[in-house]
Amino acid sequence: MQDTLLQVRNLKKYFPVKKEGYFQPQKYVKAVDDVSFDIHRGEIVGLVGESGSGKTTVGKTILNLIEATGGSVRFEDRVLFDVEAGKKMKRDELELLRQSMQMVFQDPYASLDPRMNVERIITEGIVKFRTCPKADIHKKAVELMAECGLDAACLQKYPHQFSGGQRQRIGIARAISLEPKLIICDEPTAALDVSIQSQVLNLMLELREKHSMSYLFISHNLGIVQHFCNRVCVMYLGSIVEIADASQLFTNCAHPYTAALLEATPSVKEPKTQGRILLTGEIPSPASPPTGCKFHPRCSKAMDLCAKETPALKDIGGGHLTACHLCC
Ligand code: SF4
Repeated sequence: MQDTLLQVRNLKKYFPVKKEGYFQPQKYVKAVDDVSFDIHRGEIVGLVGESGSGKTTVGKTILNLIEATGGSVRFEDRVLFDVEAGKKMKRDELELLRQSMQMVFQDPYASLDPRMNVERIITEGIVKFRTCPKADIHKKAVELMAECGLDAACLQKYPHQFSGGQRQRIGIARAISLEPKLIICDEPTAALDVSIQSQVLNLMLELREKHSMSYLFISHNLGIVQHFCNRVCVMYLGSIVEIADASQLFTNCAHPYTAALLEATPSVKEPKTQGRILLTGEIPSPASPPTGCKFHPRCSKAMDLCAKETPALKDIGGGHLTACHLCC
């Protein structure tokens, strides 16, 4: 049996929208709506979907950077929060736990404080949590730089003196400085050139191997996810519509939305001319999502039932879960 590191259950994050009139009912943007999944120790789980599907909000809500509207998150044997049970980890306990749960952000330019030199940036957590003696902090900074492929001679430089790829390496060095067990990576390569992307991904794989970490890898790039992740969760309009092993998902996906996403991925192979599932139209607004299956207005296989009933996420065999009436 696999060892569960993170357990997310029925996670919800609703943002209230401005009322159109005093007597109008309060409406909400359901950015994350009933999301459940697990991450096992040492596993890389991909979270994919179009822009606006709620991927980043899931990552931030798990870390309690934004407050959840509903659901629960458990890390190892500790409950971070359980909204329905009225449980919430105390602030000082949560701060300590954050040593084990770190985040690498999408924008390597905005995520580093321009007024701090690299040594201060990557040792900020070590100083705060006193995880190593004061006399050894510089040595630790040199080690982190070497681990992340950076020159220790640059420790006194400032973020603007580095390229995008180097800044992302600094962000990774900061994330691993406290030896976390889980890193939530929010599109960590989206702002980088293609050649730099592969270097950063290889570095992340090496570090994960060395430190036995798990990643939640948020991305819209299915090509990267296929090669980088063990398991993949596909999100559409705030909900998970499919979860499967990466190999299974990319060869035998069950949900029409996943199929359409895969069809939309650029490939050097001869394009299919028949039987393609095309993703048409824009993703609907999460403030007024469609009834029943949220994908039905864009689904080429939609039936009458799809607009009336929301399909549940069901196991169709071997841990492959999908939410589609066609698979029941
Ligand atoms: Fe398409 Fe219906 Fe399946 Fe939704 S439930 S993905 S609309 S077939």
